[in-house]
Amino acid sequence: STAIVLFNRDLRVHDHPALAAACERAERVVPLFVLDPAVPAGQRTGFLLECLADLRASLRERGGELFVRHGDTVRETMRLAAELGTETVYASADVSSFARRREERLAAERIEFLCFPGVTVVPPDELRPSGGGDHYRVFTPYWREWTRRNRRWQLAPPRKIRTPPGLDAGPLPAGRPHPGMPGGESQARDRAARWLRQGLSGYADGHDDLAGDRTSRLSPYLRFGCLSPLELACRAGHSVDFVRQLCWRDFHHQVTYAFPRINRENYRHPERRWRHDQEALQAWQAGMTGLPIVDAGMRQLLAEGWMHNRARLIVAAYLIRHLGVDWRDGAWHFWRHLLDGDVANNFGNWQWVAGTGNDTRPNRGFNPLRQARRYDPAGDYVRRYVPELAGLPAAHVHEPWRLPNPPAGYPARLDGTD
Ligand code: FAD
Repeated sequence: STAIVLFNRDLRVHDHPALAAACERAERVVPLFVLDPAVPAGQRTGFLLECLADLRASLRERGGELFVRHGDTVRETMRLAAELGTETVYASADVSSFARRREERLAAERIEFLCFPGVTVVPPDELRPSGGGDHYRVFTPYWREWTRRNRRWQLAPPRKIRTPPGLDAGPLPAGRPHPGMPGGESQARDRAARWLRQGLSGYADGHDDLAGDRTSRLSPYLRFGCLSPLELACRAGHSVDFVRQLCWRDFHHQVTYAFPRINRENYRHPERRWRHDQEALQAWQAGMTGLPIVDAGMRQLLAEGWMHNRARLIVAAYLIRHLGVDWRDGAWHFWRHLLDGDVANNFGNWQWVAGTGNDTRPNRGFNPLRQARRYDPAGDYVRRYVPELAGLPAAHVHEPWRLPNPPAGYPARLDGTD
């Protein structure tokens, strides 16, 4: 028998339950990725193409081949299934409304469609609160259950892959590589190994230090599944602080699974409304609000396609609470620019900041200047990303408006924050 393994947000050969099951059960396996115009990768395109090139190389090393097709994922999968006379399609289950619709469409076709875990550590529908309900709305009880569940897992080892020869696998388009963060499982595994060896021990104390930049930066690799979140959680098991972040990722995925409209509608408080202020939004997007800590974060996003978590919290709270702008306007800008931009984490975190999500204290205080002094005390983060302020000492870098002659070219404040 011949089975298709439809890849999506699981671009790896290690710990890939769907691939492992197909290799075990079918005589021949055809790994497939469909570049679907309905899922434009935007700024992530170069990274995605590198992931696919790396996946193709890894599959070839194991005797296989990656087939690449363009078009509607379901139609292209079914077309290939007909060409090959295949009756079974394997895939990793995902949570967004788009992914779920795609799974439903495949399940309705005349093939056997089998879904496996692999996108999260614990599958999104696996843990149910004891008090009832289809998902956890509060993180701490989820974390407690998740830690118990997590230990019982087994990794799926990479296997030999027998792809039938003589078929046209299809060319892989060339992409523009992303500077600083090359895509692919090989890169991901090297980075993870380095992080586990050298970075992890400083995580508990350093993860909020903006200038120190001491988080793993593994998020784009987790986003595309170049790394198995389960494998990472197992290997980092001794660092509770880090594993807890992987649990936050799972948490938002199980919320999204239960509430797929998370990228469009308030999860809680449906009546809450914000402004659409184009001028304020554009200043924020460009990193020209006149508040240095916010501008540094927003410019890091534009320059690197990534932003430090503490900066994400600050810029999001600033946009929503100080400028009164709709969280969706900010979230879609993040979505377009983040290499790690994914539905569950991005929109789940934006709703958390907006107070419409899963924060148990949705009205907590927020003062961006206090945050700046606390998490960038020497001002190095601001100086790194806002060249107009690079010459200012720590005493003024967060509040250039207090200088008798504020630096030329840096905008005046958009809001009245103090
Ligand atoms: P580390 O601190 O090294 O953490 C390890 C991993 O844990 C991360 O790679 C990520 O997969 C996960 N993680 C960490 N923090 C969170 C969190 N708060 N929620 C969910 N998962 C987390 N993360 C994304 O992956 N994609 C997004 O689109 C995204 N949008 C965000 C938007 C806002 C407004 C905020 C406040 C946070 C957002 N995050 C998002 C969460 C977090 O900022 C990033 O995951 C983190 O900064 C990535 O850097 P890292 O890999 O160095 O993280």
